[in-house]
Amino acid sequence: MKRSKASTFPRWTGYDTERDPIKVRMCDHDGCAGKGEFPAPKSPDSKEKWQFCAFHIAEFNRNWNYFEGLSKEEAFRRAQEEMRTAKGYATSGAYDMGGEESYGKDRRRSDALIILDLDDDATPAEIKAAYRRMAKLYHPDTNLDDSEAAIKFQQIITAYEVLTVK
Ligand SMILES: [Zn+2]
Repeated sequence: MKRSKASTFPRWTGYDTERDPIKVRMCDHDGCAGKGEFPAPKSPDSKEKWQFCAFHIAEFNRNWNYFEGLSKEEAFRRAQEEMRTAKGYATSGAYDMGGEESYGKDRRRSDALIILDLDDDATPAEIKAAYRRMAKLYHPDTNLDDSEAAIKFQQIITAYEVLTVK
């Protein structure tokens, strides 16, 4: 029997067709006015998600990676704790939370490059190659029931969009 994508991976189907073009979701990080375009799970294997801007998803991923040695549950708990305590730094001016205008294109670009594991001076060809390689690696068709891969896959797609949309 031919397995359709819809039956194996319902929550990601139509990610590029069902997107509301008008309503922009804000980043879930307290005090951030960036676009919440990158999903992150609220708990392991949860379907509920945070939506972070490129900057905060990079931060979330860093924390998540940092706690890799711990159990999955513990790592998520710690990563989210880090996100909460980061609020203090946000208001102390460690980074600018002034909204979309000050949430510079350059920073979105460099955050997207981090997700694709590229350097700041990556060429369009390198970006495309990295996107293809990583999208293949984390594709839902080859990572059934792997919610971490699913999240990563969605982040990769969004990062590529950030880097290619003028
Ligand atoms: Zn943010």
